[in-house]
This record gives sequence, structure tokens and C-alpha cells, in this order.
Amino acid sequence: MSQLRLKLLEPHRTSLEKCVYCPKLSRAACPVSNVEANETVTPWGKMSMAYFAARGDVPLDAGHADPAWACSACFGCRERCDHKNEVATVLTDARAELFARDLAPEGARRVAERFSAREAGRAGELDARSRSAAAAPDAVHVLLGCGYERHAPDVARDALDATEALAGAPTRPVRACCGLPLLYAGDRPGFEAAARRLAAEVAPGGRFVAVDPGCARAVRVEYPRAGVSVKAPELFVDLARSSLDRLQRSASERRVRYHDPCQLGRGLDRYDAPREILARITGRPPEEFIHRREHADCSGGGGLLPATRPTSSAAIADARIAEHRALGGGLLVTHCAQSLQRFRTRGEPAEDLASLVARAVAPR
Ligand code: SF4
Ligand code: SF4
Repeated sequence: MSQLRLKLLEPHRTSLEKCVYCPKLSRAACPVSNVEANETVTPWGKMSMAYFAARGDVPLDAGHADPAWACSACFGCRERCDHKNEVATVLTDARAELFARDLAPEGARRVAERFSAREAGRAGELDARSRSAAAAPDAVHVLLGCGYERHAPDVARDALDATEALAGAPTRPVRACCGLPLLYAGDRPGFEAAARRLAAEVAPGGRFVAVDPGCARAVRVEYPRAGVSVKAPELFVDLARSSLDRLQRSASERRVRYHDPCQLGRGLDRYDAPREILARITGRPPEEFIHRREHADCSGGGGLLPATRPTSSAAIADARIAEHRALGGGLLVTHCAQSLQRFRTRGEPAEDLASLVARAVAPR
């Protein structure tokens, strides 16, 4: 058997071959092919193209590379697949090979180019908070997620306040970015460097809590894949779930509908905890989307889709919002910076679970 020319895909050869010869059972799960109505961007199409590119059956050019970025890393196809194929992971590795050959789409290249400047520009209130906690030996490292810091600073503050109250210790926002945007862009050396910076920052000290589930999954799953060892973060949602008795029921919280973020649900297997927290705060279980838990539909915010395929990303978010409204509306609650940003920028005043927890947590 000849070696694949895209070496990172060698460990995925079996998955790729299963997809190429498959009757496309996962097709209906893919948010991207659902809005684009294009066979090339079905899970089958993207895996086939990656396999053909890896084998040398098609030229390595931008046109054949592009489908690797037509994925929101939602893991939806895995749940419909008899083989539980990790299409998102395979495509992430395909991106790395293609990026290294200068074949990434413009949106992905732009994200990678701007990454360093954005990381250097993160400052202000959070840095001040970080400095004031620096001397506290029991300070909790909190990985908020750049998405919250840049696009939802209200949620970033709420998450820090809630963590501080629940953990009973000062919080110290982690300054390093987990590097997930670079992983999705395809810049593997950049991602690995970011991972090492973050691992070094959180190595000293005690507890380490991650708020954004994309960041949490990156540290828990993608860092080991990249050979970077790091202390595994607790999830904010687990911290809140373990302190339900500290959450006060609020008469002012409206009827809420919960959207399962892909990275928290399928990515980290957390379905019950957010629902229990919302039930505790509002006094009743949250309303649901038609597809939920393992089969929940993506918001269109992940995998760098807003940068590489903005029209498709917006159409995916619009479909979720339309379903939410058709089912009776209420307060749309999610727990992922990318989903929150997608919903808010498409006109739905969604909230993050962290904000509801911050309002509900009772002082010790
Ligand atoms: S992910 Fe599974 S169901 Fe989908 S095309 Fe591949 S093998 Fe078939
Ligand atoms: S992970 Fe999601 S977006 Fe990517 S191919 Fe599978 S269903 Fe489509």
C-alpha cells in the first residue's frame, strides 16, 4: 500500500476509505451541505476530496483544497455514522497539510495572519484583574476564550465573577489564547506554539477552569494530539453543576430555550449539566429545539466558518433562529462564544449560560 502524500492523513486512512465507499448516511446532518445544496461539501464529498488529494488522484490546488474548510467542526455527522467517523478531525488535519502548501482559502489565511496582533492586543480590564490576582496563591486560572473577550466582554466578566463566587477564590484570566483559530485555519506550527504558551502559563498554581467549550476541548483533546502536555481544565459548566444549591431561583428569568453548542455537547459530552442549571435557575426545564443533545443542529459559528464561508455560516444561524421563533421564542441561551456571537450578530438577543449563573449565584 503506497503512503499518502498528505502524511497527517495516514492515521485516518480507514476512516477516509469508509467514507469514500459509503452511501452517505451522515449527509442530512451536515449544516454546510444543507445550506449550500452541494454534493462536494457533504461529509462524504469532503472526505473523498481529502482522500483523493492525499493519494494524488487530484491536483493539489486551491480548488481541491477548499472543501476541507467547508466544515464547522460540529461533529454532527459522527452521530449519524455507523463507524462514528471523526470527519471534523480528519478535515482539521487535512487543513494543516494544505495550509503548509499555501493552499488555504483567503479567510483562513487572514485569521492566521492576524492572530499574533490580536493576541498582543488583548488588554485592559482583564489584564488588571490578572495582575491583582497574581499575588494570590489560591487564584484560579480561568480560560475565558478569546471569542467572549472580543465579542462578548459582558459574558467574560460574568464568567469571572461566577467562577470567583463558586470557587471561593480570586480568579486570574489566562492571557494566552488556546490557539484554536490557528488549528482551524490550518497553521499547525502556530497552534502548537500557542498550546505551549498556554500550558506554561497555567502550569504553576492550583485550579484551572475553562469557560468556552471550544477552548476546553482544544486543551483536553487537541493538545494531547499535538503532543503538548497540560493540566486538564475543569469545565465552567461542571463547576456550576456541582454547586446547584448555590444558585438561586430567579423570578425575572424569562422562559428559556437551550441550544446545545457542538463543542460542549458532542465535543465534550455535556448535555445534562446545562439543562439542570437552567432548570434550577428558572424553576423549570428549558424549552428544546426539535433536534437536541447528540443530534442538535449547529449554529454555524464553529470551525472558522464565519471567516471562510460567511454566507453559509449566516444561513445556518438564521435557520436556528427561525426555528427558535417558530417554536415560540423566549430567551435563547447557549454556552459557547461562537454560537453566542452568531446568534447576536444575526439579530437574536441570545444570552450565555455563564451570565445566568452569575446573576443566580448566591454569596457564601
Ligand atoms: S461519516 Fe460515516 S456515514 Fe458519513 S460518509 Fe463517512 S462513513 Fe458514511
Ligand atoms: S463535522 Fe459538521 S460541518 Fe463538518 S462535515 Fe460533519 S456535519 Fe458537516
